Amino acid sequence: MNKFEQLGLNESLLKAISDLGFETPSEVQEKAIPLLLEDDTDIVALAQTGTGKTAAFGFPLIQKIDPFNKQTQVLILSPTRELCLQITNEIKLYSKYIDGLYTVAVYGGASIHDQARDIKRGAQVIVATPGRMQDMINRGMVNIKNISICVLDEADEMLNMGFYEDITSILSDTPKDKNTWLFSATMPQEVARIAKEFMRSPQEITVGHKNSSSVNISHEYYLVNARDRYEALKRLADANPDIFSVIFCRTKRDTQAVAEKLIEDGYNAAALHGDLSQAQRDGVMKSFRGRQIQMLVATDVAARGIDVDNVTHVINYQLPDEIETYTHRSGRTGRAGKSGTSFVIITKSEIRKIHAIERIIKTKFEEKPIPSGMEICE
Ligand code: ADP
Ligand code: MG
Repeated sequence: MNKFEQLGLNESLLKAISDLGFETPSEVQEKAIPLLLEDDTDIVALAQTGTGKTAAFGFPLIQKIDPFNKQTQVLILSPTRELCLQITNEIKLYSKYIDGLYTVAVYGGASIHDQARDIKRGAQVIVATPGRMQDMINRGMVNIKNISICVLDEADEMLNMGFYEDITSILSDTPKDKNTWLFSATMPQEVARIAKEFMRSPQEITVGHKNSSSVNISHEYYLVNARDRYEALKRLADANPDIFSVIFCRTKRDTQAVAEKLIEDGYNAAALHGDLSQAQRDGVMKSFRGRQIQMLVATDVAARGIDVDNVTHVINYQLPDEIETYTHRSGRTGRAGKSGTSFVIITKSEIRKIHAIERIIKTKFEEKPIPSGMEICE
């Protein structure tokens, strides 16, 4: 009997899990799945990015769905459209041996009427961004009055993005006796408030240290003059020819500019930010996943929660304004137990920020010289 069987999952899930190549449950899965398979559990699960939270809620919710009942039974709220699509995809893979189970992704930037029509075809699971969900409720396009489970995924991110009111309003539209499963990397006050107001004595699960980033990521910084940032980026790319990376900039404008320069200079790069159309963003993500793009230059919002395997490097072209954001950035690499490296390009005045980040991630940075040629280092 393998470990997934011991957790109480049924045959059709076990078969799908074996197809996925998952051999042993991750820690959060091992702790959450048995609890969530029981009746009437509310849960708050804290685990850093890349620890397998999607399956931790995905497996048990699939087992609890009645595929013959065509009403919406589960609502999953998630911060971005990319994440909605990713979760929907995962749920489809997990439930591939269950006939009649139907999942629909609901997010802004695509036709609300098409999404409403898809739900009416009998979707038991809706995966939605809070904004679009609220919009659909206001227009009477969806009925969530009979759901039995509501999952709040990446709750800290949703609240960071200003979705508090949408989330509380959506939750008030759901039955009191449903179960709420909250998953988050961190536990800021707003998350605690949601748990207190909308959940019924939730069980708490914590995996690893709160706020600490994975142990398999090494953190390095490169000190440059402000005008040499771009040159430093190129040299880092040249020194790592097999690089497959996400490069973070602070604004949409810088993101676009850096991507354009890289492309001009012959690198395999593309930009991902909110000024692109949904179709453009989907196209970029598809090429990145397919490895046609080696360097994805992105804003924090656009890259939130993106799960692409085998990202070798995260590059902080500029540090984020909020130091907590650094954890989310570096979590794009070192996923599923693999190792990864997070580079930070900084100027002298930003060293203080590095020390503040070190306290949060409980890990030291290594200071490294820019590869080949010292003339741009101070
Ligand atoms: P999180 O939501 O915690 O950031 P994800 O659910 O996106 O993490 O999972 C991260 C990666 O780990 C995904 O590529 C997923 O397929 C993989 N994964 C999840 N659980 C397992 C497992 N038990 N064994 C191997 N890989 C797993
Ligand atoms: Mg996740």
